[in-house]
Amino acid sequence: MQGIIFDIKRYAIHDGPGIRTTFFFKGCGLHCHWCHNPESQLPGKILARKILRVGQLEHAEEQEIGRAVTVGEIVAAAERDLLCYEESGGGVTFSGGEPLLQPAFLASCLEACKGRHLHTCVDTAGAARAGNLDEICRWTDLFLYDVKTMNPRKFKHFAGDGFHLVRENLERVARAGKEMIIRVPVIPGFNMEREDAREIIAFLDGLPAPRRVQLLPYHRHGVDKYARLGREYKMGDAAAPGAGEIMAITRQFQEAGYETL
Ligand code: SF4
Repeated sequence: MQGIIFDIKRYAIHDGPGIRTTFFFKGCGLHCHWCHNPESQLPGKILARKILRVGQLEHAEEQEIGRAVTVGEIVAAAERDLLCYEESGGGVTFSGGEPLLQPAFLASCLEACKGRHLHTCVDTAGAARAGNLDEICRWTDLFLYDVKTMNPRKFKHFAGDGFHLVRENLERVARAGKEMIIRVPVIPGFNMEREDAREIIAFLDGLPAPRRVQLLPYHRHGVDKYARLGREYKMGDAAAPGAGEIMAITRQFQEAGYETL
């Protein structure tokens, strides 16, 4: 079986426990204004402009993003770093883009990795209709689940369609008893009011499992990619949140009984 990925990152330390290999699946149904991987959003291969600089000279060329890989290739890539996983408690992470948009391929990769006793992690925003979510849960040790807002109007404006899917899938994963870390991107002008965290807490409180939250502060690392793709960066010149703002939101979750990572 084949799927489409746009990157593989070895020695990743922010995509789950320990040292990991992260596979970035191509395609995402959302278009978050702050997305730092806009090249991931369209399914299939795309072309982007790449600027090569040698001294004062600049040369532009087209770069293809996205490639088809088999489950066997994924497993072979994962197995290159077995020693790192063993020593660090790491494993493999399937991220994106949105990995749930290639549900059969994702399930096969997970099953093959579990067959080799690797720790498996799925990093998802949940905005996808994965009919085989139960099977995906079966082979996944840990979900990193992105929760942006509980306000459907804000979600629609800043991220697109799929608000109800995000909630439904989150409920299904939680009720399956899976280990989960809720990841909240902290985005200026979008979800930094007390009311935003309060609404997320109220929703999480109704679920059986999630008590761990990780805040992901907005950053501008992907800005130049938009120009390379010929797209507008809709966050304008928004600045990253300050330490005090992150601390205030962190305290809100902690006071509600959540462990913050
Ligand atoms: S869900 Fe993630 S990959 Fe998809 S558009 Fe939003 S930030 Fe980008």
